[in-house]
Amino acid sequence: MNSTTPDAIPDDNSGNNSDTTDTDVCSEASTETILVRISGPDHPGITAGLMELLARAGAGLHDVEQVLIRGQLFLSLVITVPPGRDVMKELLLFGWENKVEIDFEVVKDPAVGRVPGLVVTLIGREVSPAEFGAVAQVLAAHDGNIDRIIRLARYPVLAYELLTSGPDLEAMRRDLMKVADTLPCDIAVNREGLGRRAARLVVLDVDSTLIQDEVIELMAEQQGCLDEVATITAKAMEGELDFGQSLLARVKLLEGLDSESLDRTYERIRLTPGARTFVRTLQRLGFRTAIVSGGFTHLVERLAQDLGIDHAYANTLEIVDGRLTGRIVGDIVDRAGKETLLRRIAAEEGIPLDQTVAVGDGANDLDMLNAAGFGIAFNAKPVVQDAVETALNVPFLDAILFVLGVRREDIEAADNEDESFDTSGPLPDASQI
Ligand SMILES: [Mg+2]
Repeated sequence: MNSTTPDAIPDDNSGNNSDTTDTDVCSEASTETILVRISGPDHPGITAGLMELLARAGAGLHDVEQVLIRGQLFLSLVITVPPGRDVMKELLLFGWENKVEIDFEVVKDPAVGRVPGLVVTLIGREVSPAEFGAVAQVLAAHDGNIDRIIRLARYPVLAYELLTSGPDLEAMRRDLMKVADTLPCDIAVNREGLGRRAARLVVLDVDSTLIQDEVIELMAEQQGCLDEVATITAKAMEGELDFGQSLLARVKLLEGLDSESLDRTYERIRLTPGARTFVRTLQRLGFRTAIVSGGFTHLVERLAQDLGIDHAYANTLEIVDGRLTGRIVGDIVDRAGKETLLRRIAAEEGIPLDQTVAVGDGANDLDMLNAAGFGIAFNAKPVVQDAVETALNVPFLDAILFVLGVRREDIEAADNEDESFDTSGPLPDASQI
């Protein structure tokens, strides 16, 4: 693993890059900056004892990073040591008493700055050494570095977040996206920095994104025209047909269907695995949520109510004397309409567009995905995957949380703490994750 290890060239007042040994460290008469690495079996009291020792010695503390893997502690500190104190000897004794390895290195400066780079998120049912290696090779080819690796999730998918840096981030990002197309795992690439942490609105497509079904097909089944409708749907989603025209053609086929068919359809809707967890966690994080759908208001508004989603927009079916007329009332929510709604909802919420996230799978989502600050193609049609920078192909909607940097453990901890959390509801969540 690469790390944030500062430049290992010793502090050399003469300007020569000569080697400095631990003996030099101890013999130097001025304040020294030391990188201390501690590793070994973890047990309570190591950090407390260590800090007590450093405080007693009058040492300055400039950086601390720690990782715990399978009970093994890896703790790094950057400290400054006052002249005349043999802190190293005390640290070695501390290591011996606590059964941990301790080594030292003189470093240049206590404040080694780090320029924000790219956040690369690897997500998959498995992330193999070959996949990890392919990403690392791209970074190395651009003289980039992995500064930090964080495991965000082990279940239901593996997710790793890599904080990277490099001289040409745009070229690095382009090549990472290229290699992502060739790997079985998903790779999301974001600019590191406040922008990524500032996202406050998530706008979701519904059919084949929030839910597993295409609602119009569930209705067509009841009308006995599924094949005709499914053929038109597929062409529209691939971008071969104008969405608005195809929608009108499909709705026309539903003419005469009784209005109770909408209730029957709702009962058959299957949420995408992880959908409830995703929406619930977004709410806890303070996000505003919206669904914009090329489907129908009767179902989409009910779905929003069940899940606690803040905004819902869809097409309104005309119903006369308890039967569908085969027409739509008002404006059609098509490809352009979805983008307009994204902009309108963001404006209503007072949230800048670059702090929005849009998620969708179809060609009619493309404008919305590209207009949002962060567009995510979720198990999307090839035409959408090719046009959007981030594509997720694991079948769990809450995997999007990992792209936003949320850890699985935090999601579960929040669920466990919230005793009022209601798991009941009319819609099954296939995974209940
Ligand atoms: Mg869709």
